[in-house]
Amino acid sequence: MTKKGIGASPGIAIADAFVYVKEDVEIPTNKVDNVEAELELFDDAVKKSKEQLAQVREKAAEALSEEEAAIFDAHALFLDDPDFVDAIKANIEANADNAALATQNKTDEMWAMFDAMDDPYFQARKADIKDVGTRVINNILGIEEVDISNLPNDVILIAVDLAPSDTAQMDKQHVKGFATDIGSRTSHTAIMARSLEIPAVLGLDNITTEVKNGDKVIVDGSTGEVVVNPDAETLKKYEEAKKNYEEYQKELAQLKDLPAETTDGHKVELVGNIGSPNDVEGVLKNGGSGVGLYRTEFLYMDSDTMPDEETQFKAYKEVLQAFDGKPVIIRTLDIGGDKKLPYLTLEEEMNPFLGLRAIRLCFNEPELFKTQLKAILRASVYGQALIMFPMISGVQEVKKAKAILDECKKELDEKGIKYDKEIKVGIMIEIPAAAVTADIIVPEVDFFSIGTNDLCQYTLAVDRMNQNISYLYNPMHPAILRLIKNVIQASHSEVGKFTGMCGEFAGDPYATLILMGLGLDEFSMSASSIPQIKKIVRSVSYQEAQRIANDALQLSTGDEVLDFAKKEIEKLGIKII
Ligand code: PEP
Ligand code: MG
Repeated sequence: MTKKGIGASPGIAIADAFVYVKEDVEIPTNKVDNVEAELELFDDAVKKSKEQLAQVREKAAEALSEEEAAIFDAHALFLDDPDFVDAIKANIEANADNAALATQNKTDEMWAMFDAMDDPYFQARKADIKDVGTRVINNILGIEEVDISNLPNDVILIAVDLAPSDTAQMDKQHVKGFATDIGSRTSHTAIMARSLEIPAVLGLDNITTEVKNGDKVIVDGSTGEVVVNPDAETLKKYEEAKKNYEEYQKELAQLKDLPAETTDGHKVELVGNIGSPNDVEGVLKNGGSGVGLYRTEFLYMDSDTMPDEETQFKAYKEVLQAFDGKPVIIRTLDIGGDKKLPYLTLEEEMNPFLGLRAIRLCFNEPELFKTQLKAILRASVYGQALIMFPMISGVQEVKKAKAILDECKKELDEKGIKYDKEIKVGIMIEIPAAAVTADIIVPEVDFFSIGTNDLCQYTLAVDRMNQNISYLYNPMHPAILRLIKNVIQASHSEVGKFTGMCGEFAGDPYATLILMGLGLDEFSMSASSIPQIKKIVRSVSYQEAQRIANDALQLSTGDEVLDFAKKEIEKLGIKII
């Protein structure tokens, strides 16, 4: 059986399936005769839960970050909370309820109590109490959690989705690939897989029910294909492809310390997209010369509560220090659309991608916005930070965002707190209106970064998540190429200003020659794409790339542009894997 999903992290993995699904547990309803024994059972379960949480916490701190590990501190707190623990014991004593039922009842009661409170802090506690309650109940009932921290052999992890606690404790030596029912290229699992360089295919709908433990599975994260129990011929084909891929990666790794420069000396910057400090290592390892997009929303999404200024400051500082003076573009919060925060209740919208998203949400929640800006400013003394505003539709929004940034600077000045006074400010170009008016906006900014993921969605009126119309989603469409050209030209009209690109198109090997020929200065992508793009940049002269870009602009459709680009790549003798 071959299935097609979203190729979220490149490479090929072949191993036995390990189906990781958490079963629904049935809670017994019986009363108990021996209340003392039941109380002891409950105490033991609480003790075991505390030990488990301490272990998960330690692993999360190692594999992820302190911020992500702190989630488990919040869980552990409940196990010392008399409102939870003593109340359950009182119930067992008073009603002779069995320990699992008493725990379930108290968990439900606290969940409902938190649910009734509007405060985002208490909203976030709902998920915590549910997790803790389930853990204690499992320990009471002797249900072993499926352990993925210590696997005996290499596996492909098959799951509905993977939570941060799953990836934290996962045995990274033996997990060779992921295949999941849900997820998108920007979901947590996708970002995790890319930073761990594990091939992954997501969004396979029901792979968890179609695959059994021990089935042989091939995951091709580059094409999005998953093959279950392949025949000998298919297996051989993929083994060969895997070998070729790995050899090619080794060959590309040799380019790590060489500049991204054409044969006639035109330089571009190849930088990484990151979602958390954990992704830094991958960018450095692949020779990235900085960060072109730090998606800070993951810091918010992976937390149960709104991250405060200090938490954010630490994360930004960690990234800036790791890059040691190289540029790090920190994008301010981009929530809304498909990204939600558990602790921030937003009104339902008819068209969330056209709604209260990103900068619009930040303007609506000025304190939230200012907390982030102050955290970035404070961190800016530890490296070269640049600030980038998302979802800008016109110059008035840039002015407004900058005015709020100025307020933050003033507040820091008043307190004598240092920040980089020369900090550069730019915007994402992801709304066609901004691309068309780039010449009006350019005096207000230091740089542009083209977000083709959204620019394509908004220009072509194609929902980036809708499979039914994905055939229309093509960044090679002449409309997109013309917008890109317009933006680059506008930025180059003022000395020292530049245009980058941080949408997926920047890491598309068939786009490199055209984008470089159009004059794109900086390409920001998943770390693992950097070596391949560097190879292409180094294989051609700038003059030739300009010729290719000009020719591409004469074509009428996205498909024609892609065919043409493929031929040009072939002519240069570059293989794309
Ligand atoms: C984009 O829209 O191209 C982009 C980089 O932002 P995101 O994918 O986070 O919306
Ligand atoms: Mg975007």
